[in-house]
Amino acid sequence: MTQSAFSRPLLAWYRQHGRKDLPWKQTRDPYHTWASEIMLQQTQVSTVIPYFQRFVQRFPDISTLARADLDEVLHHWTGLGYYARARNLHKAANLIVAQHGGQFPQEYEAAHALPGIGASTAAAILAFAFGQRQVILDGNVKRVLTRYHALDGWPGVRDVEKRLWALAEKHTPHTHVRDYTQAIMDLGATVCRRAQPKCSRCPVQRSCKAFAQGNPNAYPATAPRRHVPVRSVTMVMIRDDDGRVLLHRRPPAGLWGGLWGFPECTADNVSGWCRERLGLSVKLGATWPKLRHSFSHFHLDITPVTASVVRSSAKVMEVGEAVWYNLDDPDERGSAAPVKRLLEQLRKGS
Ligand code: SF4
Repeated sequence: MTQSAFSRPLLAWYRQHGRKDLPWKQTRDPYHTWASEIMLQQTQVSTVIPYFQRFVQRFPDISTLARADLDEVLHHWTGLGYYARARNLHKAANLIVAQHGGQFPQEYEAAHALPGIGASTAAAILAFAFGQRQVILDGNVKRVLTRYHALDGWPGVRDVEKRLWALAEKHTPHTHVRDYTQAIMDLGATVCRRAQPKCSRCPVQRSCKAFAQGNPNAYPATAPRRHVPVRSVTMVMIRDDDGRVLLHRRPPAGLWGGLWGFPECTADNVSGWCRERLGLSVKLGATWPKLRHSFSHFHLDITPVTASVVRSSAKVMEVGEAVWYNLDDPDERGSAAPVKRLLEQLRKGS
């Protein structure tokens, strides 16, 4: 198929209305394309722009990123969330240097094999950077196609996803693939939006089944409701005599892996826990209002408690790498958003 009733008007619309001024669109450098695609996962374009600019300024190419300390990479990611993306980017940069001579691979299988690069992301990078005809199916494309075809069923179900891949394949033209790939992403992000799609401005409205039925919002079908569990943790913000605050580096895998945070305690007896686990006698101070941080699969309720060191035993702290962090002269360390917020509150003397 060259261009269809779907791709032809979409391409014409893109030439007029597409978002061509985005910073990562000013180059075909596969590294920039890759970094932007990863940052854009689950994150709005407007949020990504300043992060992207700072990131590629500090790490201008794959070799520089590979050589950088993971801590510094995480620091540049702080606030963007989903930190596994940054760890995978760093890991993949090292693999590209080791296995592909520092050049982003042009073969789909090799790109897809890199950490953090899923099927649609690999296809998007190769389409944008090298103009290859590759088929993408990200969240925006799924929404457009389920509406356009009035396709029933939740896209999280394997059979529905398979049908969507087949439709995406059918619509992808053999020419102008770069523009088409960006066009369908842009259509989903700016016109066929999750809430209140702007059908009156849509280039494929004439052949859209959901529009004809008058119910675009019925697509895609939503996931079956599930209970989101709540976990609770106490973050102990311990200060020493110089006002520095104790931070631990979290284990490399798992929640906020490799980031720096406060000691976390689930025991009722916080001062006993500090003595037992950290070898520190502390005097507990104020308990701050609870914070809720939501992940895709659970909510984390954080109770921040302040404490000051009364005495420190010779016992080695048990909770991995630790530093006394100077709030007035902070160094570059990656921390999760709630930790960063609490550090800032501590610095301001709340
Ligand atoms: Fe989406 Fe409306 Fe366009 Fe159909 S007509 S693809 S529902 S914006």
